[in-house]
Amino acid sequence: MTAGAGVLSGCENVRHKNTMANVVVVGGGFGGATAAKTLRSLAADLNITLIEPKADYITCPGSNWLFAGLTSLPQLTVDYLALKQRHGIRLVTDSVKSIDRDRRRLRLTSGQDLAYDRLILSPGIAFQWDAISGYTAAMANVFPHAWQAGTQTTLLVRQLQAMPAGGVVLIVAPPDPYRCPPGPYERASMMAYWLKQHNPRAKIIILDPKRGFSKQALFEAGWRQHFRYGTADSLIEWHSLADNPITQLDAQTHTVISDFGDRFRGDVLNIIPAQTAATLASEASLTDKSGWCPVNPQTSQSLFDPYIHVIGDAAHFAPIPKSAFAANSEAKACAIAVYSLLNEQTASTANWLNICYSLITPEHGISVAGIYELDGEHAVAAVREAGGVSQVGSPELPILEADYARSAYQSLVNNSFR
Ligand SMILES: Cc1cc2nc3c(=O)[nH]c(=O)nc-3n(C[C@H](O)[C@H](O)[C@H](O)COP(=O)(O)OP(=O)(O)OC[C@H]3O[C@@H](n4cnc5c(N)ncnc54)[C@H](O)[C@@H]3O)c2cc1C
Repeated sequence: MTAGAGVLSGCENVRHKNTMANVVVVGGGFGGATAAKTLRSLAADLNITLIEPKADYITCPGSNWLFAGLTSLPQLTVDYLALKQRHGIRLVTDSVKSIDRDRRRLRLTSGQDLAYDRLILSPGIAFQWDAISGYTAAMANVFPHAWQAGTQTTLLVRQLQAMPAGGVVLIVAPPDPYRCPPGPYERASMMAYWLKQHNPRAKIIILDPKRGFSKQALFEAGWRQHFRYGTADSLIEWHSLADNPITQLDAQTHTVISDFGDRFRGDVLNIIPAQTAATLASEASLTDKSGWCPVNPQTSQSLFDPYIHVIGDAAHFAPIPKSAFAANSEAKACAIAVYSLLNEQTASTANWLNICYSLITPEHGISVAGIYELDGEHAVAAVREAGGVSQVGSPELPILEADYARSAYQSLVNNSFR
């Protein structure tokens, strides 16, 4: 045997292990799509299956821009053709009904049964329908949360556009932790931008169970600049109800009611409920009492099952926020860990990145960036003095950041799905 052949047979051993393994990814959002694609780039022969019920995925990032008329649902829609054709991922258009963790098998809604060696779960969020009494899943068809992009978003856009002159939009923001911390405030900005042109006497009132919010100083400065924030005729008002949160909806009178009985009436109600990991994760006993999935961040293995990796919004990676950018970053680290575990190698130390842009107007963007590292064995910490929020003072920067927001969106979609 030549030296070259010896090296080759070593490679074949590695390939052999990979070829035998079945990796199943559940959820074709930013986390799942990126994990499947990254794994393929590491292991050409691995059996990779992606299970996702929808043939097309509508991105939540960019969906707030619909309120300002800056985009459309088709522009926010991606399909799975590239994952299938370019990256050789087996696509199953179905949803997972249950996970048999002992036998490492999945039961699909169609009745199909699927085995896995390693399972990557990125199923996103579920809503806590009991958090605001009277706000049920059925009620969300009347008062949309629009926190999963698609028909919910178009319904809310139509309601905004049909609102009477001088009407009131109530946004009930969710408690931490939730998907996209700056999302409610970008939404208020985009709505205000539209109302300023079409319904200038209208008002958006944000009722918040938190004491503060992501990029608050930047949002408030932008609102002062564009929407008379802080004056009597401001288009946006923000109220912290941290000690007196909204706990009830009276659907008939379009009124939300706080813990102490304060009543707020709106013409349009956008109630964004408290969130947890998706139902599949809780039904498989992968969540703890917080409602999210605890993981070993280094490998994203569930603390309850070493053969299951959880990433994206469903997983507890705090202080990394729940964002598409973070889900993409977690998915890459997870794919490397899965590949290493399959090949009995030690995974390289994980790092994560998050950049979150928001638009206040089409020409005014703001951002927050964070770099994260392992802190001990089981925790994550932000790297000190790295990242931060947009600098203030330069008149050009908000215009540039609005452009960056659009191009960051496009490159994140390409990086995850194409
Ligand atoms: C209004 C809004 C604006 C946002 N803007 C930004 C932004 O600008 N930048 C940013 O980085 N993030 C943004 N986000 C956050 C971002 O959308 C989420 O963090 C991201 O989608 C998380 O990805 P994920 O893969 O964890 O979950 P998801 O994208 O929700 O994907 C989960 C997938 O799993 C599938 N699934 C669920 N259950 C099952 C099952 N049982 N079987 C099979 N499949 C299943 C679902 O169909 C879904 O496609 C925004 C969110 C909102 C609501």
